[in-house]
Amino acid sequence: MMRFVWRLALGLSLPAIIPAPALAADVQRLAGNVSVLIGTSSNVLILPGKAGVLIVDDQRRSDVAETLAGVASVSPLPVRTVIDTHWHLDHSGGNAAFAAAGARIVAQRNVRLRRASEQYMVAYNSHIPPDPPEALPSLVYDDRLVLREGAEAIELIHLPNAHTDGDTLVHFRKANVIAMGDVFFNHIFPFIDRGSGGSIQGMIKGVDVALAMSDKRTRIVPAHGPVASRADLLTYRTMLATVARSVRQQVRAGRTAKEVVASHPAAAYRAGMEGEEDRFVEAIYDSYRDENIHHRL
Ligand SMILES: [Zn+2]
Repeated sequence: MMRFVWRLALGLSLPAIIPAPALAADVQRLAGNVSVLIGTSSNVLILPGKAGVLIVDDQRRSDVAETLAGVASVSPLPVRTVIDTHWHLDHSGGNAAFAAAGARIVAQRNVRLRRASEQYMVAYNSHIPPDPPEALPSLVYDDRLVLREGAEAIELIHLPNAHTDGDTLVHFRKANVIAMGDVFFNHIFPFIDRGSGGSIQGMIKGVDVALAMSDKRTRIVPAHGPVASRADLLTYRTMLATVARSVRQQVRAGRTAKEVVASHPAAAYRAGMEGEEDRFVEAIYDSYRDENIHHRL
């Protein structure tokens, strides 16, 4: 009886006193306590905790206000932890602002190394200046790290030489949510940053790590594109592997990059796809050409 009265009292009075926080229009609840901001530059995962908020990726410096507004619609607390899925500035560009506001930045060791020195992105012919020391990741790991936030275990797994040499997959074990960073572009031909140590071989292996730890209820979050399911990730894996097989055969047959791109090995996957198909094929060519050179040595 007590319980019934208590529940009735809660049901009647709580909504009047504490209105349910309204999520920002670009924020979606995923599972458990995990939400995602579909941001201007990249998707940002948000996990509110008792003492502060954990986010995965903090977009560009110019998106900090948007990221903060998304976080504020989930929790009134400040961001305490930022996980960078990799060093690219559409994912780690907010680090300086969040670190200055008291957050610790967590990343795979290679992210800190790359952000500590000037980077040259061959694909965009652009020089990216280093971050000041106070904005660099203050907690780095090599292969695997587990953070705890209340009942949630947040597992960080390094996916070597995938999109870059410092990619982190973030697994929210209790919520059954996986953040893939740029190892998964949903409905977009992926960018593989060869200049930062990325490779098609590592991309496929990275996707396999996520497939092995997911089931049909897992919410899989790409850094760009809509939230996906395990079935969507499997479709993406098939696309990667099919295009890779065609390119590898052509590399072994001695074809040039130009010839391989002109053969359009990804043409069958164009429907509903964005991104740069030729650049994607070139990066695969480059990955296998290196492998071929290695084999001959
Ligand atoms: Zn990237």
